[in-house]
Amino acid sequence: MDWGDVSQYLETAATVAGYGGILYLTTMTGLSSYDILLRHSRIKSQEELDAVVEEEAFHLELDPGTIEARYGEPSPSLNRAFVTKTTVDGYVIGVPKNTTRNIVKHELYHIYRGDCEQEEGAVNAFLAENRAILYQSLGITM
Ligand SMILES: [Zn+2]
Repeated sequence: MDWGDVSQYLETAATVAGYGGILYLTTMTGLSSYDILLRHSRIKSQEELDAVVEEEAFHLELDPGTIEARYGEPSPSLNRAFVTKTTVDGYVIGVPKNTTRNIVKHELYHIYRGDCEQEEGAVNAFLAENRAILYQSLGITM
């Protein structure tokens, strides 16, 4: 293999990685938009949210007693659903009004995977978000 082959190889690899990256980003953006575009049923009250959290926590074998869900209280900075750890084994999930079950599943999956326990580096955050999107949209646990 001479330098020409190497540079040809690198060019091809970069092209493939570029297309792969575009495909990947398109897929993940598509999956995360799935809730917004399709008319999934909306959660209309705190009581309904509590019921959904209990059901979905059960699927992930989480103790719903450790999770406080707050209806109509998304993160103030991003106006999006969030989850955070509050005590040793306690969590808060905040969601906007009219959120969907899939969004709740997404936040619960972060608890399930221990994402709230870890230092939030860029790579960790990237992996954690994409795992949670796969679970919320397709039910894939990984
Ligand atoms: Zn997330």
